[in-house]
Amino acid sequence: MTKILAVNAGSSSLKFKLLEMPEESVIAEGVIERIGVDLDQDNNVTIKFNGEKHKQRKHFDNHEQAINLMLNQFKELGIVKDFNDIKGIGHRVVAGGEWFNKSVLVNDEVLKKIERLASYAPLHNPANALGIKAFSKIIPDATEVAVFDTAFHQTMPRENYLYAVPYEYYTKYGVRRYGAHGTSHKYVSEQAAKFLNKPLDQLKLITLHLGAGASVAAIKNGKSFDTSMGFSPLAGLIMGTRSGDVDYSLVDYVKNKEGLSDEEILNILNHKSGLLGISTISSDMRDLLDVYDTNDHAKLAVDMFVDRVVEYIGRYYFELQGADAIVFTAGIGENSVPIRKMVVEKLRFLGIELNQEANEQRGKDTLISTEDSKIKVLMIPTNEELEIARDVENLMQAK
Ligand code: AMP
Repeated sequence: MTKILAVNAGSSSLKFKLLEMPEESVIAEGVIERIGVDLDQDNNVTIKFNGEKHKQRKHFDNHEQAINLMLNQFKELGIVKDFNDIKGIGHRVVAGGEWFNKSVLVNDEVLKKIERLASYAPLHNPANALGIKAFSKIIPDATEVAVFDTAFHQTMPRENYLYAVPYEYYTKYGVRRYGAHGTSHKYVSEQAAKFLNKPLDQLKLITLHLGAGASVAAIKNGKSFDTSMGFSPLAGLIMGTRSGDVDYSLVDYVKNKEGLSDEEILNILNHKSGLLGISTISSDMRDLLDVYDTNDHAKLAVDMFVDRVVEYIGRYYFELQGADAIVFTAGIGENSVPIRKMVVEKLRFLGIELNQEANEQRGKDTLISTEDSKIKVLMIPTNEELEIARDVENLMQAK
């Protein structure tokens, strides 16, 4: 039995899940927020253990202090006897560029590369690197592994990852589609193959990761063939606050009309657009569905969201030249009965039929299409932390 910690370090937050491997059972999980920033009235530390939530409010100057508190809490609650009980740590890293096509053991060179890749993910990679450094200091004997959000998509063929801009921008600056949510798309594709009882390398899958951030992947024989996010996670589907695909000319046009700086327009596209921008009321799909029948803006935002999902399914259905299954996952994909219904009903002409009763199911892998549906539709709860822990375990064994 080995305790492995999956970590997602943000600029002011730290999310974590401690797993027992190879049993794949969750021992504890939680989040620390407001690291390095002033506290508000709320508790900023939550640790879930044995069905109970342990909360507190505490100021941290940096990630190292936050991690120390988390580990001390683990000791106090009897989750671990010693910090060294944690044998492996898997860090989610947002950008891996073309340097990383799979998870790797962390060393100085890997850490330097993660820091250099900050130009692709300025908000995330520096924070990911901070998390790695802090853990190396506090538990130096643990095996640390970097798990990249982009790695899974490195198998895309160049006709799918290149933009039609001067080629030298790719060779000089790495301008290309990198995608994101790779760990989730990989995990649900593996689960789908198990569920369908077919070898993953013989399947064509379209996986829909629909959460606050959302992306679609076309997966051919277990490998990412195309994905909707681009150079950054701003591209593709309509998201909670992100615009998804737009014509670049409108960016310049609006910028001039509104007298905005580059930073301001990018902030609007990332944080004030998407479901929030169209609905004008909320970025949360639940809020919009609650008033779908009475608020025209909410209805429009939901209808546009569904439309884009269907558009990408169509695109990937053709790119893959067919599909064995379509998989829904993440916050909206796993929990929203009406969104799944709206999407699948638009696919009827392909011979895809929804099983209304199965579509009500929550929390476990489920076939939500009818038995004779031409393409199977699945709902599979994602589990990025488990996928991270599996990678750590594999790399520890190979050491
Ligand atoms: P994630 O980013 O995967 O954690 O997904 C978070 C998003 O899932 C939230 O912003 C909500 O929009 C959405 N969500 C969660 N539960 C539901 C639900 N029952 N119905 C619709 N949307 C939901």
